[in-house]
Amino acid sequence: MASPASRTDSPSRRRLAVLAIGAALAVILTVVAVLLAMTTAASFTAGMTAHAPFSPTEADGMIPAEAPLTVSDDRHPAMTGLDGDLREALRSAQAAAAPEGVVFDVTSGWRSEEYQRWLLGDAVRTYGSEALAREYVASPQDSSHVTGRAVDIGSLDAQLWIIEHGREWGLCQTYANERWHFEKATDAGGECPEPKPDARG
Ligand SMILES: [Zn+2]
Repeated sequence: MASPASRTDSPSRRRLAVLAIGAALAVILTVVAVLLAMTTAASFTAGMTAHAPFSPTEADGMIPAEAPLTVSDDRHPAMTGLDGDLREALRSAQAAAAPEGVVFDVTSGWRSEEYQRWLLGDAVRTYGSEALAREYVASPQDSSHVTGRAVDIGSLDAQLWIIEHGREWGLCQTYANERWHFEKATDAGGECPEPKPDARG
């Protein structure tokens, strides 16, 4: 038969053991939590690096606003990425316009898909909704800049000259709300198609 002392000692030793196990578990759980937090932080940082904000460069066809190209440029990706027929039409039309002092200043030509996606995102922020933004900026799938079949011309006199005479080289304004955007949309001397209302197509 157990003595009275051992009857009282035994439950208190059990309590100590339970406390010790509890403390050990708490330490283990804390270590696991810290390790998990570190892993999550590491993968979050890696994710941030992988999705660093895109910024268009010359290689994407970006032309600095302060330095538009001439149509005879044969170095910049915005020009070299253009469809050959469009480039030829622009050069011939420019030769005809030059005696009138008109210079076609190309502010945009070929663009990479990433650049077009970036422009659309920028327009969504500017206009407040994708629906409004799409009136001015086509999606990467629909943009004729991404396929190299469109140029934007900066100066008003050049825009008006092409609107009036461009069809002699097949150059047409293709969106009614974009006086600056031209495509080779007909044969030389042909009739330009009626411009679409906007970039939604
Ligand atoms: Zn355009």
